[in-house]
Amino acid sequence: MTGHAVVIAGGGPTGLMLAGELALAGVDVAIVERRASQELDGSRAGGLHSRTIEVLDQRGIADRFLAEGQAMQGLGFSGIPLDISDFPTRHNYTLALWQSHFERILAAWVNELGVPFYREREVTGFAEDGTGLDVELSDGQSLRADYLAGCDGGRSVIRKAAGIEFPGWDPSVSSLVAEAEMSQEPQWGIRYDEGGTQALGRGDGKRARVVVSERYAGQTDEPTLGDLSRALVAVWGTDYGVHSPTWISRFTDMTRQAASYRQGRVLLAGDAAHVHYPVGGQGLNVGVQDAVNLGWKLAQVAKGTAPEDLLDTYHAERHPVAARVLQNTMAQTALTRGDARTGALRATMSELLSMGEPRKRFTGMISGLDIHYDLGEGHPLLGRRMPDLDLVTADGPLRVFTLLHGARPVLLNLGEPGRFDITGWADRVQLTDAKYTGPWELPVLGEVSAPAAVLIRPDGHVAWVGEGTDLGLPDALTTWFGPGHQ
Ligand SMILES: Cc1cc2nc3c(=O)[nH]c(=O)nc-3n(C[C@H](O)[C@H](O)[C@H](O)COP(=O)(O)OP(=O)(O)OC[C@H]3O[C@@H](n4cnc5c(N)ncnc54)[C@H](O)[C@@H]3O)c2cc1C
Repeated sequence: MTGHAVVIAGGGPTGLMLAGELALAGVDVAIVERRASQELDGSRAGGLHSRTIEVLDQRGIADRFLAEGQAMQGLGFSGIPLDISDFPTRHNYTLALWQSHFERILAAWVNELGVPFYREREVTGFAEDGTGLDVELSDGQSLRADYLAGCDGGRSVIRKAAGIEFPGWDPSVSSLVAEAEMSQEPQWGIRYDEGGTQALGRGDGKRARVVVSERYAGQTDEPTLGDLSRALVAVWGTDYGVHSPTWISRFTDMTRQAASYRQGRVLLAGDAAHVHYPVGGQGLNVGVQDAVNLGWKLAQVAKGTAPEDLLDTYHAERHPVAARVLQNTMAQTALTRGDARTGALRATMSELLSMGEPRKRFTGMISGLDIHYDLGEGHPLLGRRMPDLDLVTADGPLRVFTLLHGARPVLLNLGEPGRFDITGWADRVQLTDAKYTGPWELPVLGEVSAPAAVLIRPDGHVAWVGEGTDLGLPDALTTWFGPGHQ
């Protein structure tokens, strides 16, 4: 039987990112993907938020996406604009880039890293024993794996087969999203009415991109041109002669989250772990960031350099992040109903979000820049993302994110050179002596005191802050990167 250290079910945005992270760490990983290629029906995600662009920058691949997308001030809370241009990040904007392009570019990187794909087949189930799993494929084959990652979307077979509960809320709104031709010129633009958000945008050539709500009546089947026509008539009074759709898909505000992101040797990430209404454009972003949190942890456990309970920190850190996204998307969805009372609430929210502090907080939340993993009391940097500072080293200028390209942890010494001895971890942790004299400014929090040293995890979050001594450093190194060699 063919075997891999990690098998990933699903090669969408989350599975691709996870595969890249594991491959960078030298783990034997393979993807099983139902689709024959990375081609995607429908538009789905339309952009990347700041923190996602930052995590791609941490791997040295952000430029590939920036070259094909369009940087813009596109962040919003239920359509209420949020300006991110004054945030302390190199990527203080949203990148407009359709999911199909995002997946194509990411898949090219994963291919360069040599990850094998088993395409045009599905994972149908698995059997776990004391030493690993047999992963069953739809072509009758099995793959042996030490770990199985379910990145197989909202209807995850892995989640169901593992018996992981998916509690939450049933849909209240259903929308059709489509690209089609129209024989009459429609009323272009976005509007909010009692049914929710309605939008008619110009697509490629003669085609229109449509988002239109329909009465939710338990529909789960594939939407038809007739459904699209009826929904258009219900909202605009005409279907504008809609015909020749390129694709039509349906989405709802079903809001659910896996009760556990890990069960034994099975892990869940992305839509397999959480689903919600796409308002605010956070789904793909949260999935990619799940993968970046999980990748280095799973790599170390798979390679045997860290104990298995490191994997529990994945649930502990990422479950609260998606729980917050579920909460904010439910609030945003409620605000899209255009009746008079919701309109008044929306006007109130708009006023609130034009004020300094609320605008900062909501912008930090939707962009993912405010994420703070609970690593205990201490300096404000602890558990937060490390800013991409311009450092000066003995070899010249260096950006912090450049140090993270290989997805290896970094001990950054900003004090007297040579004062740290981490020989026991030298095979895993890079030690860099550097100088930085500028301000330390964190999103939402503002300026914080300059630390003398920081231990940065491969996901870019700070695991330890030194204030002049190495107090607590050996413990932090052991917790996150396993015991040191004697
Ligand atoms: C209309 C719409 C608009 C959206 N807009 C945005 C937006 O603006 N911004 C945003 O961030 N997000 C948006 N989203 C959400 C975003 O598309 C998802 O969150 C994202 O695709 C999740 O990625 P994923 O890799 O976790 O799951 P998926 O993209 O669902 O990928 C799962 C993959 O697994 C494969 N697969 C499934 N089952 C199996 C199996 N058993 N075996 C093998 N392979 C399998 C599938 O073929 C697929 O490739 C939108 C979604 C919709 C529907």
